[in-house]
Amino acid sequence: MRNPFTFAYIEEQLATARRAGYEFIRCIDYVVEKISIPTKCVVMRVDIDENVAKTDRLLTIFSILNIKATFFVRLHGKYNPLEFSNFLTIKRILEDGHELGYHSEIVDESEIWSEEPAACLKRDLKIMSTAFGVEIRGVASHGGRTGLNNLDFWQNRSPKEFGLMYEAYDQEVDFGLFHKSLYITDSEWTQWKSYLNGRLLVGDKRSLCEHLEIEQPLVYLLIHPETYFDRHPYD
Ligand SMILES: [Zn+2]
Repeated sequence: MRNPFTFAYIEEQLATARRAGYEFIRCIDYVVEKISIPTKCVVMRVDIDENVAKTDRLLTIFSILNIKATFFVRLHGKYNPLEFSNFLTIKRILEDGHELGYHSEIVDESEIWSEEPAACLKRDLKIMSTAFGVEIRGVASHGGRTGLNNLDFWQNRSPKEFGLMYEAYDQEVDFGLFHKSLYITDSEWTQWKSYLNGRLLVGDKRSLCEHLEIEQPLVYLLIHPETYFDRHPYD
């Protein structure tokens, strides 16, 4: 099947969910305002994996649809978050009222640099909060090409030990969202993938809208700006 992930497509997916009465909130809102989260709720997460360039398009769509999201930014990938245009985009993320989180590669760092992963995490959080002038309260572990799992760091550790309020896949009482929601992701680039309460829905390629045909009280949606295009996937 042809890759459907155009910007027009994701805008229509999100608009349909909004028309159906879904509120889109940031990860931190789910932690802080758990008692008052909307009855039809999408926790919106954006991982910036390969480049920042297309993030502005998503920001415009989110602004039109009154969607709030958490954007997770890498520090050690191919893009430089401090590059002039990228820095402007990340400033816009904050100015538009979204949350900025750290897209963690601390296990990769510790392996490549022979350093302690906890020290890498503390340094990265300090760099991000200094660079962007905000406290970083959430981390999402990136899956890269090292073959290592950056999530492994959290097996015996709690985000609170590092002054954080959540890790995107944690099982803490305060967050634990992946394990108690319908999680839908575009991480396979050309098709959707989903998990229910932390378990893969094998072979289920339904889109957000198709899932929402049956009312879902709590959706955890992950998208990547690089997935989307106008004319062709490489534009
Ligand atoms: Zn990632």
